Amino acid sequence: MDLLDKALAGRRLNRDEITRLYSLPLPEVAAVAHALRLERAHPEYVTYLIDRNINYSNVCTVACGYCAFYRSRRQPDAYTLSYEEIGRKVAELESVGGKRILLQGGVNPELPLSWYEGLLRYLKENHPAVRIDAFSPEEILGLEKLSGLSARQILTALKDAGLDGMPGAGAEILVDEVRHAAAPARISSADWLRIVENALSLGLYSLASMVIGMGEGPAERSQHLILLRDLQDRALKTYGNGFSGFALWTMQLDNTRLAGKLPGASAYEYLQTLAIARIALDNIAGHQASWPTMGFKIAQTALYYGANDFGSTMLEENVVSAASGNVRRSASVGEISRQIREAGFVPAERNVFYEIVSAPSREAVGE
Ligand code: SF4
Repeated sequence: MDLLDKALAGRRLNRDEITRLYSLPLPEVAAVAHALRLERAHPEYVTYLIDRNINYSNVCTVACGYCAFYRSRRQPDAYTLSYEEIGRKVAELESVGGKRILLQGGVNPELPLSWYEGLLRYLKENHPAVRIDAFSPEEILGLEKLSGLSARQILTALKDAGLDGMPGAGAEILVDEVRHAAAPARISSADWLRIVENALSLGLYSLASMVIGMGEGPAERSQHLILLRDLQDRALKTYGNGFSGFALWTMQLDNTRLAGKLPGASAYEYLQTLAIARIALDNIAGHQASWPTMGFKIAQTALYYGANDFGSTMLEENVVSAASGNVRRSASVGEISRQIREAGFVPAERNVFYEIVSAPSREAVGE
């Protein structure tokens, strides 16, 4: 059977077959990806989430060469927000109808586990309706080193304090030769997978993510997708809780030490990998288009390459945007809805589990 016919029939592809998809004509791969997207997610809706990113501290000791966000603790513009400052940002989100924050920072050795527990308790006390998806596996690994506790103990303590989920950031490409060539101190693939599996086993939310443009090739991209798919199989079977969705974006290198040294990825590569991810990840239904890194026009196009979701409003994102000369930091519900309608779909607000919350009013769309 032809590879694309096999995929279209819903049969699972192995790593070599996924790698071979990279050598097929993109329009043919995209057509299969779009057909699968129409089957696996609501065919008319393209969803979005209202949320806000809060970067609580930019102090980080990992010092990834492709990161323009982090600072050493002695740099004049290093910061750590107070509980009250973070609370004010949450209140601003609530005032525009948002009910979810993403809370992420660097690996700051001056913040003990008790600081994070206190922050979560403060936010849950003052903003009980807002869900908190916080801390990447890298931050949890930093807390393991600082506290001597295991990821499971740390995540259990954070969950008790109010943590609802862990954004799946920092996966990039889960092949150590690739990730450590670009950032030697970056969390290893095994640790990323271990910590995310711990989070899923505790019933916490997480997102499967992928960043291309680190110098990886089709074989490494396929390997990454297989690792995500295997973890999802295992998590759903063992814990009854898996990744809620999948997000792909391209390495943003402006203002970083590795600008001009890492290749990054073109729009073509982005759309190609998005389509292949839709085919490969047969156990994750929600796939995001990344307007913050690719712009609205490519994100609209992505809706025909396997994506069924437009991500989130991303009010105040600082980590990716610090390395992006031309990205937007946030978008209103009206802007996102307009982009979705222009691409031929119906915009619908969702929650983090990709369940439809509501369709926007005509006023919100600007009609
Ligand atoms: S990407 Fe994350 S871990 Fe790496 S330097 Fe930036 S803040 Fe630190």
